Amino acid sequence: MTSADKRSNVREGGHSNGGGTVKGFVRKVHSPHPSLNDSLEGEIQAFLIDEDQLHTYDDLTKVNPVTPTTVLKCLQARYRVKVFYTHAGCTLVALNPFQPIPDLYTLDVMKEYHCAPQPQEFKPHIFIVAEEAYRNVQNQLEPVNQSLVVSGESGAGKTWTSRCLMKYYATVAAASSVVNSQDTVERIERRVLDSNPIMEAFGNACTLRNNNSSRFGKYIQLQLDRRQLLVGASVQTYLLEKTRVACQPANERNFHIFYQMLKGATDEQRKEWKMPCGKHFVWLPNSEKTVEEDSFQETVEAMVHLGIKAERQRQLFRILSGILQLGNLNFSSMDESQPCDLDEQSKDFLQRAADLLCVPAEELLTSLRVRTLKAGKQSVLKPCCRAECSMRRDCLAKVIYAQLFEWLVTFINNSICADKSTWCNFIGVLDVYGFECFQINNLEQLCINYANEKLQQHFVAHYLRAQQEEYVSEGLEWSFVKYQDNQSCLDLLEGSPVSVFSLLNEESRLNRASDAKTMKVRLEKELGNNANISWDKFSKQPHFTVAHYAGQVSYQIQGMVEKNKDPVPPELIKLLQESENSLLHHIFTDKETEIPTSKGLSKVTVVSKFKNSLERLMRILHTTTPHYTRCIKPNPDCKPLTFKKEEVIMQLEACGIVETIHISAAGFPIRIPFNGFMQRYGLIAKYSHVKSGIHSIDAGADYILQRGVENLLSVVSQHEAFDPLCEDNSGKHNSWV
Ligand code: ATP
Ligand code: MG
Repeated sequence: MTSADKRSNVREGGHSNGGGTVKGFVRKVHSPHPSLNDSLEGEIQAFLIDEDQLHTYDDLTKVNPVTPTTVLKCLQARYRVKVFYTHAGCTLVALNPFQPIPDLYTLDVMKEYHCAPQPQEFKPHIFIVAEEAYRNVQNQLEPVNQSLVVSGESGAGKTWTSRCLMKYYATVAAASSVVNSQDTVERIERRVLDSNPIMEAFGNACTLRNNNSSRFGKYIQLQLDRRQLLVGASVQTYLLEKTRVACQPANERNFHIFYQMLKGATDEQRKEWKMPCGKHFVWLPNSEKTVEEDSFQETVEAMVHLGIKAERQRQLFRILSGILQLGNLNFSSMDESQPCDLDEQSKDFLQRAADLLCVPAEELLTSLRVRTLKAGKQSVLKPCCRAECSMRRDCLAKVIYAQLFEWLVTFINNSICADKSTWCNFIGVLDVYGFECFQINNLEQLCINYANEKLQQHFVAHYLRAQQEEYVSEGLEWSFVKYQDNQSCLDLLEGSPVSVFSLLNEESRLNRASDAKTMKVRLEKELGNNANISWDKFSKQPHFTVAHYAGQVSYQIQGMVEKNKDPVPPELIKLLQESENSLLHHIFTDKETEIPTSKGLSKVTVVSKFKNSLERLMRILHTTTPHYTRCIKPNPDCKPLTFKKEEVIMQLEACGIVETIHISAAGFPIRIPFNGFMQRYGLIAKYSHVKSGIHSIDAGADYILQRGVENLLSVVSQHEAFDPLCEDNSGKHNSWV
């Protein structure tokens, strides 16, 4: 068992018993292993607590009874007094304050948590989770890699939390003393942190739910050497929402980088990028709005630190500006089904786009307007109608942006990844998009919600099921706590032989124009008996509804198969491969990156690619010790210190927090493998032995156990008081100064 579970229960918690006015909840006298079936009425020793004291509950397992309402009240009380972190057994709940909280994340605070013999005795904080993972790597008999899984809905604070975690490790595990201290640019922890502004500039956007919404998923592995120092990192990204480049939902914006360029460029750069002041770009809606992330300078500086040379940057920005010019190309025709031509006003933009992308203007236009059909060995050229031309234009922009993003991620990895021989363990930080349910949901939401199902399954398997099964297998008295298992939903989405994904893939591979109604009939026929899928007979648009663990989501079928195919016309790829912009040429010819072929459609569908990358991620997660942080968005308007109960309760229910608390509260507070336990604390016992596989220890150790593990730990912590990481005598960590 992991020490991840030790965290919250080692001490009784920082709350008062509050025997005062009777306003609040009834709380049982704490018993180490309370049975959930105990009725409150039957509890003779029950006493009442003052509701005014609710904010003092550092751990929701101490709230009794644990119900959605009591948990909510406790969190609300804490939020009111500006306490944003609360333990929920094995999970940390992080409420978003929506305003900077001075002194909460300073170097001094980091130091306090890092140097404390028992950080878990301090107030709940994301640094407790960070520190615990850090110590866990080495505290085991076998070093174990760690994963910090940060979840929550859009705007809940996942990316903020991930950044905090990265800063923490870049500080406490800084290898600065072993690197040339003069050359700050070369410091690896600086570079690791600098990957954030770049990836956020290219992968985040202002949406209705969050001004800095991540439009991709990210798993970053922080690589530690034998001395526990940060020597590098590697990033894996998931499913960038590339459609945003060419189509921004109403009142939302494109990726930050475009606005940063628009606002931060010098006159000279504007000229070079053909972006004169006052020029309107169709793909840059809401550019008058200023968001904090519009800092071009910061992005450029980070690029410099990571080693992107000035010439490469020039090429990169020219490509981005080329994409923007494409957005101003308009096609017109008298008849929608007839071949069309470029609008008169668009001709300038065509020339600019061609110049910036370094391709001949006529060829760019032809590749947008004319399709090559193969008939045996013959090729036939077919002019496209207006809708097809616009689709090809959007497709060109999307494929360029997506490849550029991939190139950036690869570049970042090359710049920050340590040589395999120099690191031995990692701490992974996972920041993926939360569960999404909009008015119209399509393939993107299906993939995102599928990812959340997978993570929930991992959580369920790791904590809710494994912990209880272990109790039973060890013969401990235990009444099973029910939890929502989402396996049936996953079977519906990805199972075999038939699932939503398998049917989507089959349809996508048939290489025929797909019709939403036909697809719906197939889904109904093949999956009609599955309880997790349903259909609203009165809906005008063909759709299907999936019962996710976090709620029901209706998916529109129209366009789904096409999105899954993600076709890129071969003429466009050929055009880009011939670009004289060496970066553009490189990203479409480099054999190492996966590119759509110029010969035809890629056979790998979006769904199967995403599923494979998630499976790889899950395999990694399964080999690590996970730590969960659930970020909660207290109100939908991102207002400081505003707590909307309905919003919060929905999020608590969606992540099954109440079940988690029940199991953590009823479970054993500390679980240490027997061998590890004996190795660590055996010196206190007179002797020990293992009989026929059943662990038994002598009366001395038994007595110690009875005194409670808390006391034991305090005894041991005195033995461990010498902490080389914190004491001046180590001289190793000088990053505080
Ligand atoms: P998405 O899924 O859309 O990417 P997210 O969960 O990553 O959302 P963040 O971008 O991390 O959300 O947070 C949204 C905003 O909330 C931040 O830009 C910041 O303004 C604020 N915020 C989040 N956490 C904190 C915090 N601990 N202290 C102060 N402000 C915070
Ligand atoms: Mg985010």
